[in-house]
Amino acid sequence: MLEIRCLHIDYSGVIAVENASLDAAAGQITTIVGANGAGKSSTLKAISGLVRPAQGEIRFKGEYLNGKSPEQIVDMGICHVPEGRGLYPYMSVLDNLLVGAHRRKDKAGIRDDLDKVFDYFPVLKEHRHRIARNFSGGQQQMIAIGRGIMSRPDFYLFDEPSIGLAPLITRGVLDTISRIAREENCGVLLVEQNAKLALDVASFAYVMDLGAITLSGRSADLAANEEVRRAYLGL
Ligand code: ATP
Repeated sequence: MLEIRCLHIDYSGVIAVENASLDAAAGQITTIVGANGAGKSSTLKAISGLVRPAQGEIRFKGEYLNGKSPEQIVDMGICHVPEGRGLYPYMSVLDNLLVGAHRRKDKAGIRDDLDKVFDYFPVLKEHRHRIARNFSGGQQQMIAIGRGIMSRPDFYLFDEPSIGLAPLITRGVLDTISRIAREENCGVLLVEQNAKLALDVASFAYVMDLGAITLSGRSADLAANEEVRRAYLGL
């Protein structure tokens, strides 16, 4: 569904990603794990059009994303749930969710998707008129995921959804992401520093180090790999 070939990202001389290639399929979670500064977020930003790669090809359902604007990429069915969530803190939950649908005209579809968000996250329905900043970290992550659902994507990019969350809450967020991938038959590319959890929920995984993909394989195989266990799982 998503194919990246020989991606190279350079911030005025700082090489963030070097010759990275990866694939992500529909209906499953693909993860990129790696330390701080490995180039994971930059890879996601290149896919969603927020960063222009210096080199490389990015294709979604066979169509090139290179040169497309972030708005065109949203219209093609890709949704980026960024690190730090990017909510409007003084707007209500409902208005934050509707931001995700701002390029859509299908009122009935928008209503259906809102019901779907409230089905995934009942607490958001109950408090939909409260402003976003009054919610806990985990609930704000639910709002960010819900806003993504409201754009009715075929593919989600999640950047560090676990950041700042307690382990139990993180588990719940990642389980919901799995449910979305499965039930909607969507592709998911999940960037996570919590390699243990990421390898647990993903089907396929890439390890990124200093801008390069150093390992890839089925998540279960990587979780059993000595090098991965030592460097990323603390075992
Ligand atoms: P983190 O988990 O800390 O977000 P990451 O794996 O997502 O790390 P990136 O954020 O993609 O890594 O950063 C990769 C490299 O690019 C780092 O060396 C970082 O300092 C650098 N970098 C990222 N964004 C910029 C920018 N806007 N300008 C200059 N350098 C940047």
